Amino acid sequence: MLIDLRSDTVTQPTPAMREAMYRAEVGDDVYGEDPTVNRLQELAAERLGKEAALFVTSGTMGNTTALLTHVPRGGAAIVGNQAHMYRYEGGGAARLGGIHFWVVSNQPDGGFDQEQLAAAITDDSDEHTPPTLLLCLENTHNRCGGCALSLEQMTTLCRLAHARGVKVHVDGARIFNAAVALGLPVSQLVAEADSVTFCLSKGLSAPVGSLLVGSRDFISRARWVRKVLGGGLRQAGVLAAAGIVALEQMVERLAEDHAHARLLAEGLAELPQIRLAAQCVQTNMVIFRLHDGERALPEERCAEFRARLKNEGVLLSSMDDGLLRAVTHYGIERPHIELALAAIKRTLEEMLPRTRPGGAS
Ligand SMILES: *Cc1c(COP(=O)(O)O)cnc(C)c1O
Repeated sequence: MLIDLRSDTVTQPTPAMREAMYRAEVGDDVYGEDPTVNRLQELAAERLGKEAALFVTSGTMGNTTALLTHVPRGGAAIVGNQAHMYRYEGGGAARLGGIHFWVVSNQPDGGFDQEQLAAAITDDSDEHTPPTLLLCLENTHNRCGGCALSLEQMTTLCRLAHARGVKVHVDGARIFNAAVALGLPVSQLVAEADSVTFCLSKGLSAPVGSLLVGSRDFISRARWVRKVLGGGLRQAGVLAAAGIVALEQMVERLAEDHAHARLLAEGLAELPQIRLAAQCVQTNMVIFRLHDGERALPEERCAEFRARLKNEGVLLSSMDDGLLRAVTHYGIERPHIELALAAIKRTLEEMLPRTRPGGAS
């Protein structure tokens, strides 16, 4: 049996999802006639407190659709230097939209420094710089260890952008993790944002799908873009049915994943060969480095560690630069965390037997 902590994307659909998929009432969604897709879209819009929603195949399609809908060719969108939209979405903004990414450094919690952000926003008065039309936030922030941006930060950053005529898109692939961790309704957290993408296929455990939400006008324009991207599906209700179960049954249990991630982080923090890399373990991720007492181990040694650990039945993912990531999710319970910690400890003792605690980090 493998304990797969690479990502919450590896979750299997629940029995209730398979049942709902089997029984789903379907129609042609390009005609707007799939009752199950329509129900999912209404439910998503309601949960996020927006007028309308659009079912898309993936988080990447949701974010790319949002970019192409908000920003015409030659316009600029501000993204964080650690953002998923910047680093992991295939360059779709440039390739498909002729959109210029203007990169601002993320703070350790995944947010932005207000002054740096304000300085990055430009209008169309200077031919040297493409005008800023969109600010992209990410919540929770993947490369920043699953940190949740607080309501205060979300509000402040949205207002800063809006005051300059800039729209805000939230890459909320894991926005429900943020809402659960902060103890807020998700609608409050995204109240000031113009659009939000969230994934059904991560901690919410659906097999496929994401939603893009926003105003009715925005979603009707986004629908056109989705069609162009090949995302106009037909009897998509078989997929949407699992998404409805995800929203109705799988949100509150995210708190269990967060508790398991904290348990894992506490166990890892006791090992002298490990340095936790993110400032918080607030949701379902733990990011860390390996350390030999003198220095952090480079990527190749981390790859060796992952390969050895795989033989012990535990999978982790790499985020490059010697960063390792463990993600908790549906299907991972407390005993799995205990087994994973024991395997990590054994593997590190083999690889780095003489590491002393308290080396420089
Ligand atoms: C996974 C993820 C996405 C993209 O989702 P896919 O469904 O894999 O395309 C976007 N943003 C963040 C922060 C993610 O973690």
